[in-house]
Amino acid sequence: MLKAAHSFDALMEFTARPQAVFVRGQGAYLWDDTGKRYLDFIQGWAVNCLGHAPASLADALAAQAKLLISPSPAYHNAASLKLAKALVDQSCFDQVFFTSSGAEANEGAIKLARKYGAVHKNGAFEIITFEGGFHGRTLATMSASGKKTFEPLFEPKVAGFRKATLNDLESVKQLINGNTVAIMLEPIQGESGVWPATDQFLKELRALTLEHGLLLIFDEIQTGMGRTGKLFYYEHTDIAPDVMTLGKGIGGGVPLAALLATEKASCFEHGDEGGTYKGNPLMCAAGLAIMEEVGKPAFLEAATEAGLHLESELQKLSARHGLGEVRGRGLLLGLNLKLPIGAAVVQEAFEAGLLVNSPRPDALRFMPALNVTREEIAEMIDGLDGILTKVGAARRVA
Ligand code: PLP
Repeated sequence: MLKAAHSFDALMEFTARPQAVFVRGQGAYLWDDTGKRYLDFIQGWAVNCLGHAPASLADALAAQAKLLISPSPAYHNAASLKLAKALVDQSCFDQVFFTSSGAEANEGAIKLARKYGAVHKNGAFEIITFEGGFHGRTLATMSASGKKTFEPLFEPKVAGFRKATLNDLESVKQLINGNTVAIMLEPIQGESGVWPATDQFLKELRALTLEHGLLLIFDEIQTGMGRTGKLFYYEHTDIAPDVMTLGKGIGGGVPLAALLATEKASCFEHGDEGGTYKGNPLMCAAGLAIMEEVGKPAFLEAATEAGLHLESELQKLSARHGLGEVRGRGLLLGLNLKLPIGAAVVQEAFEAGLLVNSPRPDALRFMPALNVTREEIAEMIDGLDGILTKVGAARRVA
C-alpha cells in the first residue's frame, strides 16, 4: 500500500499544529517540504538566537560529535567545564549545573531553594511565585507556574508554591511566613503575554528578600542570553539575584539549559541532583559556540539596536491599525491587539509565510533571532500590515 508522505498518527498530539512539515532552516527563514518559505519571528520559541542553522553552531556540533559525545555524567568533560567557566566569568554567579531543558533547570532551582531551606532556614520550603508566571511543564514547575489553564491539571499539585501579583509588593509581603525560602519570577513574563516586572519592583523584591533572608531566583530562560539586549536581564537593573536559570538561547537551538547560583546559594550535596545528560559535551560545545558570539559587547549592542528598531516599527504599525501598546524589552516584544484576533492573525500570517506567535488572544509576541536585520524586520512589518488590514476588514464585515 502506498503510504502518504507523512503520517501524523504515530505522534501523541499535545497541541494543534498546522499540517506543514518543516525540513530546512537558514537564518531568519524556514522551508516546509513543499518548498514554501516562511519568515520566522518565533525562532524555535525564542531559542535560535543566531537564527536557523548558523555555521558556527553546526561546526561546533560537528567537531564535538567527532571528538566525544557522552563520557557519562560520572566523569568531567572539557566542554562543560569551559562553558561553566564562561558563564561564571560573565555573570554574578559562582557555580553552574547544566540540564537539558528549562523546566529541568527550574526544577533544579526549586530543589536548590528547598535544600537551602533545609540547611540554613529550619526546613523552610515555600517559594513565592507569580500569577501569570510560567516555569515549565514538569509537575513541580507547573505547580510553580501561575498559568490559569494549568490549575485543573494533574492534581494534586506539588505543594509549597504561593502566588503573588507581579509588580505588587504588598501581595508578596502578605505571603511571607516562617516557611518561606525564596521568591522566583521571570523578569518579563513571556508565555502569558510579555508582561515586564518594573525595575522598581525588582529592586524592592531584592530588598525584601535580603530583609527576610530569602533567595531571589530569576527565571531567565526566555529573557537571558541577550534576548533583551544584555546577556542577562538582571544587568538592566542594579540588583543581582542569588539564583538564575537559563535555557532556550543558551543552546541556540539544541537542548541545553542551566542553573546558576552564587556561592552562598550553591548548597547541593552528593545525591541531590544528577541525570544522564547533565553537562553533556555535545550540548555544551553548542553552548560555547553561542556564548562566543552572543557574549560579545558588539553583538549585544547590535541586538539592542535591532530591538529598538523593531519596537519603533511595531509602534508605527499599532498606530496605523488603532492597536494598543508595545510591551517588553530588546527582542522580546508583545503587541496589544486590543481585540481577540491573535489566533486569526497567526493563521493568516502562516498562510502568507510569516511565523508569529499569539501568547494570548489579544496579543502577538515577537522573538526573532538576535541577529535579525532591518530588512527582515521590514518584511515582517509589511506582511503583518496586510494581514491586520485583512483581519480587521473581516471583523468589520462579521
Ligand atoms: N521558564 C520560562 C520563562 C519559559 O519561557 C520556558 C519555556 O517557554 C520554560 C521555563 C520552560 O523551558 P523548557 O520548555 O525548555 O522546559
